[in-house]
Amino acid sequence: MNVTELSETELKNLKDSLLFQKSSILNKSHEFKAEQSSISSVADEAEVASLDISNNISIHLHERDRTALYAIEKALGKIADGTYGQCESCGEVIGARRLQARPFTALCIECMEEQENHSNLFQ
Ligand SMILES: [Zn+2]
Repeated sequence: MNVTELSETELKNLKDSLLFQKSSILNKSHEFKAEQSSISSVADEAEVASLDISNNISIHLHERDRTALYAIEKALGKIADGTYGQCESCGEVIGARRLQARPFTALCIECMEEQENHSNLFQ
């Protein structure tokens, strides 16, 4: 079953783009970790421990990057299991143009607009 409007080639391009975004976030975190290695803070560790992110590399990422990384991982998982492009909220197919503009979006445009008051992420 294919829930997206995307062709196989378009889907592959989006996957490549997601993998590229993921690696640039991870590369950034390596640089950040190198800078911060001598001034690790206990408060930061405690805050990070409460976040459900399994990858240790993400510990020193900024909040926005952590959220993006999580969304990217989720999108890649959906591509793998064939549910990519389906709105998490209403189950409708997300338009190809929207996915190409925001490859790791989890919501269709209607649901995103509904949630705009609750979150400014990915705006
Ligand atoms: Zn929706």
